[in-house]
Amino acid sequence: MSSCDCDSIKEPLMPLEKALSKMLGSITPSTESEMVTLADALGRILAVDVASTLAVPPFNNSAMDGYALNAVDLAVSDTLTMVGKSFAGTPYQGQVKTGQCIRIMTGAQVPDDVDMVIMQEQTCAEDDQIRFNSSAKPGSNIRTLGEEISVGQVVLHQGTKISARHISLLATLGCANVKVIKKISVAIFSTGDELKPLGSVLQLGEIYDSNRFGLIAQLQRLNVDIIDLGVIVDDPVSIREAFERADRAADVVITSGGVSVGEADFTREIMEQFGEINFWKLAIKPGKPIAYGKFPNSIFFGLPGNPVSALVTFYQVAKPALQKLSGATEIKPLRMSATLSHAIKKSPGRLDFQRGFVSTDQQGKLIVSSTGHQGSGMMSSLCLANCFIVLEQERGAVAANETVIVELFDELFQ
Ligand code: AMP
Ligand code: MG
Repeated sequence: MSSCDCDSIKEPLMPLEKALSKMLGSITPSTESEMVTLADALGRILAVDVASTLAVPPFNNSAMDGYALNAVDLAVSDTLTMVGKSFAGTPYQGQVKTGQCIRIMTGAQVPDDVDMVIMQEQTCAEDDQIRFNSSAKPGSNIRTLGEEISVGQVVLHQGTKISARHISLLATLGCANVKVIKKISVAIFSTGDELKPLGSVLQLGEIYDSNRFGLIAQLQRLNVDIIDLGVIVDDPVSIREAFERADRAADVVITSGGVSVGEADFTREIMEQFGEINFWKLAIKPGKPIAYGKFPNSIFFGLPGNPVSALVTFYQVAKPALQKLSGATEIKPLRMSATLSHAIKKSPGRLDFQRGFVSTDQQGKLIVSSTGHQGSGMMSSLCLANCFIVLEQERGAVAANETVIVELFDELFQ
């Protein structure tokens, strides 16, 4: 490789949108599935649509603690005779005739021969004589059979990432087991002679390998199987061996460092020999150089070495790819407008993901401020942030009180 970087200076930076659509277009979602118990389904991706085998609610039941009766009887008298009780799990077995009512609890079955429930706070009971202080329409306070979900109705779609909310719904339907896509596997290593293990004493020129830990934490949130290959020194033979090992073991290979144009930056070169590489100088900040491509058995990402760049490019570029490969339905990040509390410096040319903190003012309006030094190696501004301030590629400096777009961090950064 020539030490002159003139070509890449001339080469226009690729907009992020274009890189994402090229990359996503080249990825085929995994379809191999397995059954897991509902207790093990959190964070997994549904392999099939789930249709309900049950009506919900499965029977007419009371929404209140009170009395079940017929509306027409109340038109004749405000006092009815209580003839029995219906508890949740223990329905009333008898009949309810003209002039009668039953005591009923929330969730208890409503017999077919009554048509409404009046809450107990609107009644006055003297032995079995119940006086009703208010009237209501037929159907009041009854949750009717199938009013929420009918038998056969699709309630969750293939590609849904199963959350606590979905688990609750699946349990409501009695699903003890769920068919999910098999987890994809991701092998990861850091490159750099200067990177030392946590806990070791650093010599001059050395730093701790932080990227691998931050990236693995994001991978854990994505619920993939992780193969941690540690740190590989800046030596072409070792890097090539690590790539071969990673490619044999995993669906995806992720590295950080060595993708720029320094004399010890071998990652890109070896990726080129071993696979089909798309090397991108993306029009984003942080994180301009990033490699994406295909090895014989896997896809790979060569992320930049600077810690903020590594974490942000993983979040903005690798995450959508891993989600697609995992069979998950694409969810675009939720972006909203906020008022910038102070001026921000920016030059046109790159889409900037500044680290910001967004909150609401007394009127409920979103206000965002930058969290300080935005250097691509400065993790502290990322740690103080709860959102990206997304400044458009062609935008220049932004003045205080201008409207900007913010993207709240999702579970990967929480
Ligand atoms: P490189 O892309 O290898 O030239 O690295 C760019 C910068 O990121 C250098 O200052 C490296 O020391 C730093 N860096 C690279 N990999 C890591 C890592 N795993 N953890 C922390 N810093 C790193
Ligand atoms: Mg390096």
